[in-house]
Amino acid sequence: MSAVDLSRWEPVIGLEIHVQLLTRTKMFCGCALSFGDAPNSHTCPVCLAHPGVLPVLNREAVRLAIVTGLALGCEIAPHSQFHRKNYFYPDLSKAYQISQYDEPICVGGHVSVLTPDGEFEVGITRAHLEEDAAKLVHVGGGGRRAGAESSGVDFNRGGTPLLEIVSEPDIRTSAQAGAFLRQLRSTLRRLGVSDCNMDEGSMRADANVSVRPAGSTELGTKTELKNMNSFRFLERGVDAEIARQVAILEAGGAVTQETLHYDPDLNEIHSLRSKEEAHDYRYFPEPDLVPVVPDRSWIEELRAGLPELPVDLRRRWVRDLGISFEDAEVLSEPRELVAYFEDVAGRVDAKAAANWVRGELRAQLRELGQEPWESRVTPAHLAELIGLIDDRTLSVPLAKEVLAEVIASGAAPAAVVEEKGLGQISDEGALVEIVERLLAENPDQAAQLREGKDKLVGFFVGQAMKASGGRADPARVGALVREKSGLS
Ligand code: ADP
Ligand code: ZN
Ligand code: MG
Repeated sequence: MSAVDLSRWEPVIGLEIHVQLLTRTKMFCGCALSFGDAPNSHTCPVCLAHPGVLPVLNREAVRLAIVTGLALGCEIAPHSQFHRKNYFYPDLSKAYQISQYDEPICVGGHVSVLTPDGEFEVGITRAHLEEDAAKLVHVGGGGRRAGAESSGVDFNRGGTPLLEIVSEPDIRTSAQAGAFLRQLRSTLRRLGVSDCNMDEGSMRADANVSVRPAGSTELGTKTELKNMNSFRFLERGVDAEIARQVAILEAGGAVTQETLHYDPDLNEIHSLRSKEEAHDYRYFPEPDLVPVVPDRSWIEELRAGLPELPVDLRRRWVRDLGISFEDAEVLSEPRELVAYFEDVAGRVDAKAAANWVRGELRAQLRELGQEPWESRVTPAHLAELIGLIDDRTLSVPLAKEVLAEVIASGAAPAAVVEEKGLGQISDEGALVEIVERLLAENPDQAAQLREGKDKLVGFFVGQAMKASGGRADPARVGALVREKSGLS
């Protein structure tokens, strides 16, 4: 794809994100939510759309929608309404989806997105509740619709509570789109609203993309890229679509408003259908559900119970602890890791704490399938280990060995050092002895060193580390090598 000249064009992006809510049961019936269970094992007359059944709204879904709205700075509507969105598809047995239309539960919010290059603002147009459709299972043809011999319907997913979050067209680059979605995911996870598992489809993003001449304030014609199911595909798809539109416009053409599919394998974009308009759906108020009129006191109670959000936590860590945005992003999720890291960082230098928790500790534990907070390494242990590096008792390689021992036995680092005799050799006499022996055993290198070949200092330091089982202090050894061979 040719490079896009972005000095002449400005991309404009708005996202629509569907998340599956972490309720126990479906939106309008008592069937359990499940993923991967036997087809049609969680169904009832309501979610199968038998005639005459009545939906009953799931209170927990409303709570999760309100909590999300509050976290995204939205107004919680004093009165909101469900509508029927009419269309036919085999996965929608009622032939309408119960959704919200012009009276959504959350309106008019905004979030500040933290990135390594600073913050940017994204308006939140609305967030509304709706139900998911069932799932078509295609038989033959490799499981794809095209070429399938037949298709079955699995109603387990039908009626799953969804929250659709719609952003304003405030995003300007694919990287910003990715950063916004990533921050939204950690926010929703922190709130317990959704597991946002993109592989399983519990978070799906549609990207609306247009471009306009740089400096223009009018919006160009947009297209909608459907169902991006990974951050990487979202970013690549948006870039491919920006390039496609710029090429059309530079050739003097016009972008057609349509719904598109991005194929990440081929890096290609295909048209799915021309864009439908709201009136095509013949929306009308759902007569079987009363309006949602949440108590103000309930909303205020939920507001007071909001946790510190990932963006605030990360901002605070970057500002007060001096750790990098990347460290803060990795360490701010899940909650157990936050507590673990803060405990370590409260005892030693925060940057060292971030390094060790994020780096070596997780790496060693990953091999064992353990998380830091479940392991035998307490925050106090890790802080002690970092302290032993600071006071030069341990070199970094030795500290890694000690850590492995702490993971295995749960013993305190200082006790491991003591028991295994792993501490750095601090006895000057012992180091002198090693250096003198090595100079004698390697006369050629020693001679070159005396002639001023500085590079050989490294050779002797390496030998000394080997000879001491990693216990020599490399800086001290280097100084001794220079001293004994007459280098300054
Ligand atoms: P539609 O009626 O096609 O659903 P909406 O106005 O409801 O369009 O907007 C849907 C999404 O598209 C929102 O996220 C919005 O920010 C985004 N959007 C709207 N207009 C544009 C545009 N010209 N370019 C990019 N994104 C846009
Ligand atoms: Zn049901
Ligand atoms: Mg829309």
